Order: sequence, then structure tokens, then C-alpha cells
Amino acid sequence: MELLLKAPKGHELSEYLFSLPFNLYGKAKKVDGTLAVTHSQLIVYIDGDEVERYDFNEFDEYSCEQLIGCSMMVGKHNDRAEKCICAFTQDNFIAFAELCKIINHYLTTGQLVEHSDIDEPKCPKCGLPLDSFTECPYCASKVKTFRKLFARIGKYKWAFSAAIMCTVMSELLNVVTPYINQRLIDDYVWPKNTSNWIGFAVLCASMFLILIINTFLDWANMKASFYVSLNLGQDLRQDVFNKTLDLSMSSISKKTAGDLISRVSNDANKLQSFLTDNGKNAIVRILSLIIVTVIMFVMNWKLALLAIVPIPLVVVIIKRAYNTIQMYYGRSWRFSNAHSKLLHDALDGIRVVKTCGTEDIEIEKYTKASYNAAKASSKAEVVWYFIWPACDFLLTIGNYFVLYFGAMMILQKIPGFGVMTLGELTRFTSYVGMLYTPLRWLMQLPRQLADVSISASKVFEILEENTDVRDAADSVDLDIQGNIAFNGVYFGYKVYNPVLKDVSINLEKGKMYGIVGHSGAGKSTMINLVLRLYDVTQGSVTIDGVDIRKISQESLRSQVGVVLQETYLFEGTVLENLTYAKPNATFEEVVSAAKIAHCHEFITKLPDGYNTRVGNKGHTLSGGERQRIAIARAILHNPKIIILDEATASLDTETERQIQEGLAELCRGRTTIAIAHRLSTLSNADSLIVLDKGRLVETGPHEELMRKKGVYYQLVMAQRKTTKMREATGNPNYVH
Ligand code: ADP
Repeated sequence: MELLLKAPKGHELSEYLFSLPFNLYGKAKKVDGTLAVTHSQLIVYIDGDEVERYDFNEFDEYSCEQLIGCSMMVGKHNDRAEKCICAFTQDNFIAFAELCKIINHYLTTGQLVEHSDIDEPKCPKCGLPLDSFTECPYCASKVKTFRKLFARIGKYKWAFSAAIMCTVMSELLNVVTPYINQRLIDDYVWPKNTSNWIGFAVLCASMFLILIINTFLDWANMKASFYVSLNLGQDLRQDVFNKTLDLSMSSISKKTAGDLISRVSNDANKLQSFLTDNGKNAIVRILSLIIVTVIMFVMNWKLALLAIVPIPLVVVIIKRAYNTIQMYYGRSWRFSNAHSKLLHDALDGIRVVKTCGTEDIEIEKYTKASYNAAKASSKAEVVWYFIWPACDFLLTIGNYFVLYFGAMMILQKIPGFGVMTLGELTRFTSYVGMLYTPLRWLMQLPRQLADVSISASKVFEILEENTDVRDAADSVDLDIQGNIAFNGVYFGYKVYNPVLKDVSINLEKGKMYGIVGHSGAGKSTMINLVLRLYDVTQGSVTIDGVDIRKISQESLRSQVGVVLQETYLFEGTVLENLTYAKPNATFEEVVSAAKIAHCHEFITKLPDGYNTRVGNKGHTLSGGERQRIAIARAILHNPKIIILDEATASLDTETERQIQEGLAELCRGRTTIAIAHRLSTLSNADSLIVLDKGRLVETGPHEELMRKKGVYYQLVMAQRKTTKMREATGNPNYVH
């Protein structure tokens, strides 16, 4: 779905920011219409003719209204009647609704967003979907990417240089070997010569010495290469992992866990082996190519020319194939990413899969994704293995030329080509072989570059991503007291779609506040802002008078404790999970926190007490037990501000009662912000914050709000009615 769907007849899409088709106008007349949007106006076209033009600020607000069978986009005046701009069938509703949000955002802020979030981002150069890339991996400068990649070797330049030196020396020695061969053949084999056995022995000894030195150089080379390779890989994985944890929630939520895992492991590993193997080889192979070519030309330039005749042809073929291969590798990357996403999803939601009995569906989805990945990969390989033998054959033709003309020269059958000894020809053909080895390697290189450049783009995308929630240069470590203030806060996950609108409130230290409102009103969003998981769009959130953008994130989060509806326990022991936020806590402190949270008793009954392993995500414990561990963890953390986000929503009444005691202990003397579905659990809060569609509509204690009979009263009444209906129908899932 996107907002640039169809140009008005006779016009180009590029003339407009957005352009959407509609099919009803006036009195439900069927038309072929287009609503085109420029930087300041909406233009209504019917059959390519302009029929109406509106400045954005001609109306105070734009919205989409659903009618029976169709919808319309309307412009509203605060004081006058609204006007229908155009009407359309339901399939375009989302696009028009998004357009309304964008123009409304422009009317309130003066900023016009040029890309809607429902647009599937495409590369402006090649037009291919960007998928989860921010820069098109096909159009991104490869030179820049590989330069950045090779810059990472800098840290290990000495070991890397040592590996190169060893390989270069070994290659140089290899260049000498054919010369010794030539001497052996020409001086001792043909014509046969047994008189100078000392010379013969010296040549044989030199061959042996070269063998020993080469073995030593290989050993040193491998040692240095391993050192560089292991450390480079470790650095890459570590950097990607560190950066991933450093990303803001909004960046993280745009990527899937499977995608991130694949970048930390697969892509980083691929780059590791590419850098160390090919990085070193590229230097050595090119060097040996130059040396061998020079020697060949010095020996006999005519034969040398014959040897390299097929090379330009091979280069042209490979260059042409490169783009196709790269496209298939990109596709393969996307499919294998999709299949690792599926794998991760299925394993993460294994309980849902099992309880819904959808194993077969998941298996089918996985098989399809995995098949697609394999197919795309095999297409790249098929293209390559079609091209590779052809190129190899072309290269070998050069060798046959050399053999034919070389033999003719020995037999002196081609006048003008010169004369050659058998030893010289043997030496020359050895060099031809040595020329083709780096050439073959270089021919393989584009295929590897195509594959690796995709992984490199993915890894650098993470490494270079700007963290939008970051510590300011002058950020401070604040000793938090617990006074929180929202000052005219506007916030939206999409800039043009505010979730919180003009929220202003002061929360005093040590008091308990409950946030209430309908689902989707923005309660969790308020909490996200206190935790600074996101930055406000407008206004500010302050703690003890300091804007939280000025407080270091480490200092902020170390003084805010959170208990969520779903507690996440890490694989490990109960003790490790309890001390997660305070690893240096003494055992006495842990036990005391566990007692306050009412979990000491059940922990001591576990087979290994505090050392019992909790299993994957704590599945060996009940929901209530996990929740009590989370409360104990928060108590141990000793925060100044406590956030309870539906902390007891998934528990039964008895467990909730037990946990309430723990929570009461936890909240004593600390500023507490709680969200609870069951409004009764918040009635003892010092004050309630009532949100309605992102706006703060009421604040005050429970009794006062009940007397006021406003939004909170309605919410409480609706909930009481639901509870009564549940009791009457005996259906615990009854929803009002
Ligand atoms: P509440 O906690 O009151 O139920 P939330 O604060 O979770 O509501 O959400 C408010 C609105 O913001 C909802 O419309 C929801 O769809 C949207 N929203 C919440 N989280 C995100 C997110 N990460 N990205 C985009 N939209 C979100």
C-alpha cells in the first residue's frame, strides 16, 4: 500500500507528492477520479481534468468517514459544515486515512511528511523494494562498503602484514621453482649430462630448501591468519551485538529478532572469512599475477600475449554475469532472512502453535520459505556454474596456444617466433599455470563479492544506524527523588499520528498514580516516555525538574523499576534472575527482597532452592511465581520510581491478593505509576490520570472522580457491568 498509486490522466506521478484514485464524486456519480497532492494543495481531477483545488489550510481538519458501501474524505471547519472532497470504495480507505493524518499533522506543526509509514520503501535509484534495508544494497557504493570493511583490519595490521609477507615470500619462491626446473632439464636431462653432479646436487638441494622454507612460511601464515580471522570475527559480532542493544525501541521494533540474529551471526561470520581469506589473497594474488606476467613477457612476449589473449573476453562475460548473480544473492538473503524469522517466530510462540495445533501450517510455511531461499541461492549458483566452465575453458585455450607455438619453437618450425629449449618451455608453461591460478581466483571473486556485499550492507546498516534516543553531550547522572512532570507532551510512533496529545501533569515524589483509559488511549505510551524508550515529539518529560533527555540513560534506568504483565526470566537460576539488575547483591539482601515479595517461601520449596534453574523463559514456574520474582527483582533494584504495567492482569484473584502485598511493600515511599485493567486495584492510588484518545481528560483520587461522573466514572460503571454479567452468565470471557 502506498500513497502514490495512480497519476491523473495526462499527468506524471512525479509531479505530485501523493496521488490516490477515487471512483465516486458529487451525488454518488461513478467517475475515474484522482486526488493529487502537492506541497500545499489538494487537486481533484476527473478524467484528467481539474475540477477542484483546495489549499491545505482551507479546512481545519481532514478525516475519512465510512458510509454504507463506500467512504469519503472530508474537510472540516471548526465553525462551519464539512465538505466532501471525494468518495471511494473501501479498499482505498487506509490510504486516504493516512493522507488525512499527514495533512492534519501539517496543519498543526507546519511540517509536511513526504513518505507515509504505509509506503513500502523503495530504492529511489532502481525502484526495488528496500525490504528491511535503509539503503539499497544493490545501489550502495560497493567501494565504500568494502573500504569500511577492510578498515576493520587496521587493528590487526601487524599480524595481517605478517600473513601477507609469508604468502608473498612463498609466492616468490614458487616463481623460482620453474627456473630451477628449467636448469635441471636443459643442463642435465636433455641433453643428458652426468659429469657435473655437484651442480645437479646444488639444484636438487635448492628445490628441497624451497620446500622446507615454504612449509615454514605456510605454518606462520596460517597462525597469523587465524589470529586475525578469529579476532576480526569476534570484534564484528561484538560490535553488531553492542549496537543492537544500543538501538532505540523504535529502531528495534522495525526489525525482527530473526533478522538481528542473522546479522550478528551469519553475516558477521561471512564477513570474517571473506576479510581474512580474500582480503589477504586479493593482495597476494594480484601481486603474483603482476610478477608472473612480467617474467613471461621478459621470457617471450609473443608467447605471453598468446597466453593472455582470452582474458579480456572472460572479464566481459564475468562483468555481465555479476549483476544477475548479485540480484539472486540479494533475493536469497531476503528469503533466508524470512525463513529465519519464521523459525524464530515459531519457536518463540511454540506454546501457541502447540495449543492451536498449527504445527502442520508452520511446517508448511517454513518449508516454503526454506525452499524459496534454497531456490534463489541455487539460481545464483546455476548462473555461476554455467559461466564458470565457459570462462575456464576460454582461459585454458591460451594454454594450448602456448603449448602449440612453444613446441613449434623447439622444433624451429615457425620463422620469426624465435627458438626455445625444452626447459624454457617447461618453465614458461609453469608460469602460465601460475598466471591462471590467480586469474581463476579473481574470476571467482565477483561471485563472492556479490554475496558478501549484501552481508556487509546489512552489518554496516546496524553499525552505522543513528540511535534516535541517545545521551546528550551534557547529560547528567541524576540522584532521582521521584518528581515527574509531563509538560505539553505530544508523542506519536509515527510523527504525523500523535498518540499522546498535549499531556501536562505533575507527579509528586513518593505518591502512587494510576493511569486509566480505554485500550489504545496511550497509557503504556506514557510509561514508555518516562522510561525514555522513545523521545517526545513536542513538549518535555522532566524528573525533578530535569528534562529526561538531559539525564544519562544509565542513571535514569538504574533508578526506575518496572514490573510488566509478562515477566521475562532469563535462562539460569532463580538467584541469577533475582540479581539481574543488581549483580553484586549479597545473598542476605536477595532473601530479604524475596521475603518482602512473598516469594521466599515457594523458592525454598523448589528442588534446588535459589539455585533451581528456571528453564527457558522461566517456564518451570507459574505466572504468579514469575511475577513475584519480578517484584523481588524490582525491590532489590531499589528504584526511586516504580512502574507497574498491568503487573497483575494475568493472575487469578488469590494470587493477585498475595502479589498486591508484595507490590504495596515495593511501592512504599517511591513514586509509583501503575496501569491496571481491573480499575478496583487502582482505587487506593493517590491520584488517577484518565486518558481518552491520547488526551488527559481527568485527574484526581478515585472518590473525587466518581463524584464527578465523567470518563472515569463511565469506565468504572462499564467494568462493574461486565463483572456482573460474567458472574450472571458464568462466562469469564464475557466482554461488555
Ligand atoms: P494503551 O496502553 O492505553 O492500551 P498504548 O499506549 O499501548 O495504549 O497505545 C496507544 C496507541 O499507540 C495504540 O493505537 C497503539 O496501536 C499504538 N502503538 C503502541 N505501540 C506502538 C508501536 N510500537 N508502534 C506503533 N504504534 C504503537
